[in-house]
Amino acid sequence: MTDSRRPRIGVLALQGAVREHVAAIRAVDAEPVEVRLPRDLVDLDALILPGGESTTMRKLIDAYGLRGPIAALARTGAPLLGTCAGMILLADRIADGDEPVFRLLDVEVRRNGYGRQLDSFEADLAVGTADVPGALGAADLHGVFIRAPLLSELGPSVEVLARDPDGNPVAVRQGRVIATSFHPELTGDRRIHALLRDLAAALDREAPGRQSKDAGVTE
Ligand code: GLN
Repeated sequence: MTDSRRPRIGVLALQGAVREHVAAIRAVDAEPVEVRLPRDLVDLDALILPGGESTTMRKLIDAYGLRGPIAALARTGAPLLGTCAGMILLADRIADGDEPVFRLLDVEVRRNGYGRQLDSFEADLAVGTADVPGALGAADLHGVFIRAPLLSELGPSVEVLARDPDGNPVAVRQGRVIATSFHPELTGDRRIHALLRDLAAALDREAPGRQSKDAGVTE
């Protein structure tokens, strides 16, 4: 039996870093659901689009008929978290030509924007100060970057949650949409997943338009 008070958080499980997100969801006391088909989205309280390879992921999203149903879930107000390739899928604009996919985040991203020499690196990310803590608190967050996208432009309603040592934004939030250019599931720091859980727990399940079995998501 599932405990209905624990938010149900889906992870798109077509490709990429799924297992670590599932473990992170459990670690913040939410219920993980692996999403492969539109019916897996029913009654989710939140969804994670993981890292991987965004070109492959966009093809698989369409091959499995998930594009419309994921957009419908987002319209119900369910919070979304996109990490790395997942951030690319959420972005309104992709530099250098790729068509945007979900257009749920008013940012421009540059794929592999940290350069080929820096295929992968780790950095301590500033999230706020003791005097002025940010939404993620004050202590630095350790970030693992793997062929990471760079956030090259932010719209006015996008809040910066964390910056890399050069000052580039690397975690952002616009309403219920969160995105990171790094992989928060690969460290033991659960602040990003806890934020998603808190947004999911705050969802009013009775709200009009709330996802349900007959809201068209399983089309
Ligand atoms: N470079 C990948 C892309 O453009 C993203 C890498 C990742 O998710 N770790 O899709």
